Amino acid sequence: MIPAKAYAAQSPETDLAPWKFERRDVGAHDVQIEILFCGVCHSDLHQIKNEWFPGIFPMVPGHEIVGKVIKVGDHVKNFKVGELAGVGCMVDSCQVCENCKDGLEQYCLEGNTQTYNNKDRSGNPTYGGYSNTIVVREEFVLRVSDKLPLAATAPLLCAGITTYSPLRHWKVGKGHKLAVLGLGGLGHMGVKFGVAFGAEVTVLSTSPSKEEAAKALGAHHFVVTSDPEQVRAVRGTFDFILDTVSAEHDMNMYLSLLKTDGTMMCVGVPTKPYSIHPFSVLGGRKSLAGSGIGGIPETQEMLDFCAEHNIVSDIELIDIKDITPSYERMVKGDVRYRFVIDMATL
Ligand code: NAP
Ligand code: ZN
Repeated sequence: MIPAKAYAAQSPETDLAPWKFERRDVGAHDVQIEILFCGVCHSDLHQIKNEWFPGIFPMVPGHEIVGKVIKVGDHVKNFKVGELAGVGCMVDSCQVCENCKDGLEQYCLEGNTQTYNNKDRSGNPTYGGYSNTIVVREEFVLRVSDKLPLAATAPLLCAGITTYSPLRHWKVGKGHKLAVLGLGGLGHMGVKFGVAFGAEVTVLSTSPSKEEAAKALGAHHFVVTSDPEQVRAVRGTFDFILDTVSAEHDMNMYLSLLKTDGTMMCVGVPTKPYSIHPFSVLGGRKSLAGSGIGGIPETQEMLDFCAEHNIVSDIELIDIKDITPSYERMVKGDVRYRFVIDMATL
């Protein structure tokens, strides 16, 4: 076994604190990565606080991992020691079901193995990226370009792919009016990709103070959702809404902003079920859809697209000892736009 250190939550009631544990030895098909940076996703907080379902504790969150390959197994073909590499939200899947064969490992019919707060296929708990090292089978390790700033690349592994994938799936681009609902970690990547794909992008935000920054990200319009006048002016105007909101919100109101045949693409995971009136979708033949992260081939495509178009996340680099106050700021929407932990501070 490989000794490892991390920040872990011992229970939903306790803050993250230093913890020592062991990673499995590097198997023939495994890659060991020294973790250099890890992004802070709102899912980390949802999970350490048991907001979705009872978690597995101790829990080491973190699924926006970048670092350097430090060891490879004998049968590893695509990675060499010293290269950069990334790991996102999944570390394994059955690899043989129709979804896995289609490169949709996130929808593995047996269930994918999540990077943390899950059991691996031998029944051992998985531990995430707020740690110094990780061992992952080669098929779930991504290539990371050395052309992009590495810390700002980390959030692409979750926030990036989670917004890239639905925009690609629904072919959002030129001629479309796209609204991005919620300008946080996912939302700001949704704006960048929407603009890169040629859509006319509007940010729907509860935070008037984010207007200037939204425009700097490339958004064409900004709507403050607490202002009824501004909301009325965009009713029935969007082809697509990318909903990245992490808390309860009025879905019926937001659905009213879609055009006839418009699609609401939900990626945010509030802690309570949506309450939706049938009239909100049947009037205007609207689609309510969802999307979960992205498969491995598409995650690599997204990373290559970002390297080619010079797209990274806007980040605040933090010391790991500041993780709890950073969560508090994230809940208040006070982050521009992703915290990334400098793992050298562990
Ligand atoms: P985040 O950085 O905290 O951003 C969420 C944003 O939502 C906030 O910045 C805020 O933007 C807006 N918001 C918060 N509370 C709101 C409310 N009550 N009403 C309206 N808007 C509100 O979170 P994130 O890391 O981007 O994650 C967003 C959600 O996506 C989380 O639930 C996370 O678990 C989920 N997620 C899903 C997937 C997937 O595979 N589908 C992957 C990763 C994350 P404004 O200040 O602009 O209003
Ligand atoms: Zn995430």
